[in-house]
Amino acid sequence: MPTSLTLAEAQRRARLVNVHAYSVDLDFTRGEEVFGSSTVIRFGCTEPGAATFAELRPVTLHKAVLNGRGLDPGSLRDGRLPLTDLAGNNELRVEADMRYTRTGEGMHRFTDPADGEVYVYTQCAPDEAPGVFGCFDQPDLKASFGIAVTAPTHWTVLSNGVAESSANGRWSFATTPPISTYLAVVVGGALHSVRTEHVGIPLGLHCRKSLAPSLTADSEEIFDITRRSFDRYHETFAERYAFGKYDQAFVPELNWGAVENPACVTFSENHVFRGAVTDTERQTRAIVIAHELAHMWFGNLVTMRWWDDLWLNESFAEYMGYQVVTDTGLMPHAWTSFAVSRKPWGSDADQRASTHPVAAQRIDNVADALVNFDGISYAKGASALRQLVAWVGEEAFLAGVNAHFARHRFGNAGLADLVDALARSSGRDVHGWTERWLRTSGVDTIRAELTDRNGTVTSADLIHTGSGGGKEGLRPHRIVVGVYDLGEDHAGVRRLVRRERFEADLAADPVPEQRGQDALRSALTPLVGARRPDLLVLNDGDRSYTKVRLDPRSWATVTEALSTVDDALTRALLWSIARDMVRDAELPPAEYINLVEAHLPAEPVVAIVEAVLAFARHEVADRYLAPDGRAAALGTLAGACRAILRRTTLRPTTGNDEYDAGVGLAALRGLIESEETGGGLDELQGWLANERIPGGPALDPELRWLLLRQLCIAGAAGEPEIAAELERDPSGVGQQRATTCRAALPDGAAKERAWRQLFADGELSKQLLDATASGFWQPSQPSWTAGFVERYFAEIPKAGRLGQAVAAALGHTLFPAHAATPATVRLAEECLARDDLTPTLRRFLGDRLDDLRRAVRVRADNAPEAS
Ligand SMILES: [Zn+2]
Repeated sequence: MPTSLTLAEAQRRARLVNVHAYSVDLDFTRGEEVFGSSTVIRFGCTEPGAATFAELRPVTLHKAVLNGRGLDPGSLRDGRLPLTDLAGNNELRVEADMRYTRTGEGMHRFTDPADGEVYVYTQCAPDEAPGVFGCFDQPDLKASFGIAVTAPTHWTVLSNGVAESSANGRWSFATTPPISTYLAVVVGGALHSVRTEHVGIPLGLHCRKSLAPSLTADSEEIFDITRRSFDRYHETFAERYAFGKYDQAFVPELNWGAVENPACVTFSENHVFRGAVTDTERQTRAIVIAHELAHMWFGNLVTMRWWDDLWLNESFAEYMGYQVVTDTGLMPHAWTSFAVSRKPWGSDADQRASTHPVAAQRIDNVADALVNFDGISYAKGASALRQLVAWVGEEAFLAGVNAHFARHRFGNAGLADLVDALARSSGRDVHGWTERWLRTSGVDTIRAELTDRNGTVTSADLIHTGSGGGKEGLRPHRIVVGVYDLGEDHAGVRRLVRRERFEADLAADPVPEQRGQDALRSALTPLVGARRPDLLVLNDGDRSYTKVRLDPRSWATVTEALSTVDDALTRALLWSIARDMVRDAELPPAEYINLVEAHLPAEPVVAIVEAVLAFARHEVADRYLAPDGRAAALGTLAGACRAILRRTTLRPTTGNDEYDAGVGLAALRGLIESEETGGGLDELQGWLANERIPGGPALDPELRWLLLRQLCIAGAAGEPEIAAELERDPSGVGQQRATTCRAALPDGAAKERAWRQLFADGELSKQLLDATASGFWQPSQPSWTAGFVERYFAEIPKAGRLGQAVAAALGHTLFPAHAATPATVRLAEECLARDDLTPTLRRFLGDRLDDLRRAVRVRADNAPEAS
């Protein structure tokens, strides 16, 4: 096993070594198992005579030469090649055969089932570069890269540098500016490419040949987003784009949404749409495009020194991604989408036992960094940055960021450097803010307490509690308070109308109780003496990160009139509050379903429809409700989806005046997933047979697979139907869908087969593992899966030894989350008590156990009284 680099080792090596240049030469013509890798590293050493090591993980090390002196290939241990007696200037040459992977780590190799073409690409982040070339693998040893490749003659090859020559399968790329090893990239295969140019920057889009029609159909849209994002960053940032050209390659089986390699971003193929999609899916792709482009400055031009600042990269890019698609008018509901579906990813993580500060104090090695790479890094961090912008003002924020870029361009920097720059540009105590916001974990909660006499507010207190329920962990907030009244519109319909919004600053200093009360009371002073509102929304507009609770009258108003609030972001916030209340056992899950029935059919914003349906269907129905409650909830959800479908169109690109494009499609998907029995199921069968849904366009492959999966779960379709569908759609994605369908069959042999494949090392790619795991458990199949819950906890420890990607598929996706009973909790606890779990697997299982306990608690609270 390669040894993970520690912070102490990295610091020592950074003092000793400065790397000038890499020459990397890769050969993809050595068969299916290995590729050739020759590297020359030119580097200086501050203490001639000293020793260090380079990282390298070859199948065979043919040759290693340091300053003309041959090194013993046998000295390579645990992925480290010792280098002794260094000179002031050094040259290390290594020649090796390296192994292709199927896990999306290092050099991934993929054979397209549609046409047999082979594709390869690198995924070097965070510490997989040594599986591709010999290197000093740490982010603060930046160097220029000169990359050359030998490939089959019909391939197109991409890299960070522009291709300077290509003939007879031999490619060579321009030398890059200084970049970190984790950002080096090569993509190769029979790529389909679309090219254009913008403000002197050559732009390219690439995908495998068999996806060409889907990419071509959307290439103008993708280029448009790319151009607008470039324009926006060129307006916002003083530094111009630094990496020459800009390729965006959609690659198979990528483990991430996208990876920000300078000048050659790799994207998951999920962003190449094979069927109808909703506006949310287009919006997500646009945000990812803007996010990766933001990394060209934050992450690539200025890079973290060590992995403890990984969150800063991601939070910044996430914040910029949402802000840019909003500013450019491309996606007006981006922050609504963030509030209703992205932020909960962060706040859920923040309420688990494994929570950690946004800015981790000390990440000792790369493996620890990866474990903390979660919703807190992205969503909570971005939410905190949004609050920081609200607090210091956008102008001061950008001035600080630009000073940071200017000072550290092509170098490395950390959080402290950025905080210094922001403190100077804003003149505010950004250091103090950082301690409160970034060095603490957990979510604080705010709620209002109003009293009134004859409808006039006599006192208005804002109660602010830290994550532990007391004053500990309070953060300062600048929030907006929204005041709403119920009234009748011209048609006589009761609606919520906003009376006013005002800003409130919540201090968090641990002041004496009396003063604290005064400070918080003053936050809501504008309400005193006014008519008592029907609805008071704290953090209206969602500029801060905090839990919000409503006063009883406001909650009653929400249940009556949630869908009549004009502002989508406010509705998103109210739905999030309801979600939180279910999770905290403050709102019976059945009442959340009632809220969906009453208010979702009128919801015009697709991001809200999708997020609410996802929570209602997969968490409330499948986990928080006991089986009898689940059946009733599915019926209600199906009814709500049908109500939406009666009011809007199924043609996803058109929408209508009232609804976002895609609301109908979202409701259709929700309906399909909610029909498990009887006539509803027969209807699904009819749609699939007729290849069409009444009133809708012809079924695309994704909708066909969704229908088939639901029929498979119910036992209304089986292997013959799956095989026939796979023949229609023999793509890589088709294979994944078929795998999910097979694992979902209510059939003992199918479950056994799926189980064996899940735990057989190396049999399935990461994507097929996930596909199998996501089909396996079905809450409607307790008799087929009952025995597997115990087997899961008996067998899962070995998954940790099969690598990070396998641990994620088996430890996270395959966790029996639907079996929300005290018995499952006990099994999980016993499993976690074992001492042979890898840290990554322990983290996945621990987090899933936290969620399971929550579901068990909610079920217990809502169980019928024992008589
Ligand atoms: Zn990112």
